[in-house]
Amino acid sequence: MTNNAKVNDQWHWLVDMVQTIEVGLVVLDKDFNIQLWNGFMENHSGITFDTLHNKNLFEQFDSLPKVWLRQKMESVLLLKNRSFISWEQRPFVFQFKNYRPISCRADFMYQNVTLLPLTSHAGDITHISMIVYDVTDVAMNRQQLKTANDNLERLSQIDDLSQLYNRRHWQICMQKEFDRHHRYGHPTSLVMLDIDYFKNINDNYGHYAGDKVIQTISHTISQSLRGTDFAGRYGGEEFAIVLPETSIKNALFLAERLRQKIAQTTFIFSGSAIQITISIGLCEININSQSSEQWIENADIALYEAKRKGRNCCIQYQRPKAN
Ligand code: GH3
Ligand code: MG
Ligand code: MG
Repeated sequence: MTNNAKVNDQWHWLVDMVQTIEVGLVVLDKDFNIQLWNGFMENHSGITFDTLHNKNLFEQFDSLPKVWLRQKMESVLLLKNRSFISWEQRPFVFQFKNYRPISCRADFMYQNVTLLPLTSHAGDITHISMIVYDVTDVAMNRQQLKTANDNLERLSQIDDLSQLYNRRHWQICMQKEFDRHHRYGHPTSLVMLDIDYFKNINDNYGHYAGDKVIQTISHTISQSLRGTDFAGRYGGEEFAIVLPETSIKNALFLAERLRQKIAQTTFIFSGSAIQITISIGLCEININSQSSEQWIENADIALYEAKRKGRNCCIQYQRPKAN
């Protein structure tokens, strides 16, 4: 076999491979006219190379991010450097449908694209090539993992029975609010509430009935809050709410409304209608609160006072009188 024949064979193989490889290959001249458009690109665009040959890429594909891509290509030609476009930066360059069976949940093909300057025999940059990788599977897996992680994170913050924040997460958020108050000085109030004579409900109607009460009251709390307020299940039948941007006067108003709403709710257990009440203690942050622990403690003192005064009432924390 002559050398020429060998080279011819090799050339033939290469062309075959370029045509069949599962990667998109495009070559453009410096004016962005299409000089190569391999089988992958034909299959996914549904347009043959013969139709596109010598036509301007940007005029043929309306959906291309024209200004952005052109700038990127011009800098590849000028700086003689390759450039990468990741699906995380831009999900796709060519708007191709996704046909992959495993990742059928994606509507389009996610792509990584490499832009590569091509050098002539004389050493000049005369063309630019685009290498298009289908990364739909990678992108979908990553997104599924992210969704799963987000769900896990959410689950780790929520108390199962009440669907409010659990104590740990509530405390983290409360500390952030406490710190924010010290930076900006905005009024912020804390509400602690506890169900009255809850033990009786468990004793008389069973633990399941007790759980139902916790769920109903938690739901009423959630429904009564604004977007920036947050409530947590602080203990068994004890709840804590932070009200940012809220003076004690407004906090009392909200707490009183909540207390009345719960007192007016009728629970039916074993055929009997029962009323349940709550006691509430409140404390605005700036009164005697050197630390977040102190702040909670003060609201707790007010709650204890509400219990002492006969329950089913709201009491605000009072600074102890100096002797
Ligand atoms: P007080 O008016 O003084 O608050 O009286 P109380 O009976 O509500 O208070 P106490 O602290 O004596 O009782 C709270 C009870 O809550 C004791 C515990 O068995 C019950 N408990 C704690 N967590 C749960 C729970 O998740 N489900 C149910 N059903 N009961 C719970
Ligand atoms: Mg109680
Ligand atoms: Mg209690």
